[in-house]
Amino acid sequence: MTEKTIFQKILDGEIEGDILYEDDRCAVLRDINPQAPTHVLVVPRKPIPSLDHLTDEDEHLVGHLFTVAAKIASEEGLEGGYRTVFNCGPDANQTVPHIHLHVLGGRRMSWPPG
Ligand code: 5GP
Repeated sequence: MTEKTIFQKILDGEIEGDILYEDDRCAVLRDINPQAPTHVLVVPRKPIPSLDHLTDEDEHLVGHLFTVAAKIASEEGLEGGYRTVFNCGPDANQTVPHIHLHVLGGRRMSWPPG
């Protein structure tokens, strides 16, 4: 059996996570090392390692993650806008092999990203 990721352990209640939203398909937690005044992660309960592992049956789930991201952005008061990011693979600096949608806001973002 592959070892659980840090996010799986948080979702399973085995370790503390700053969870601000939960439903049957995902949870939203505050990033432990925030890169913006608001930085949360929308994490599916299904432990998909990366975007490269998505299958057709995950399409609704991924859409749901974005719907939840927009709802949380609104609740966090990000009226000025926000950025959503999925890092995929080493060139994008993905560090946790369990897909998660970053939602960053509360400051002006630059482009291109670093
Ligand atoms: P990635 O680099 O894989 O796209 O993003 C992983 C994110 O998870 C990073 O922004 C990192 O700060 C965050 N992170 C790593 N460990 C923990 C943890 O134990 N708890 C929380 N809430 N976030 C974490």
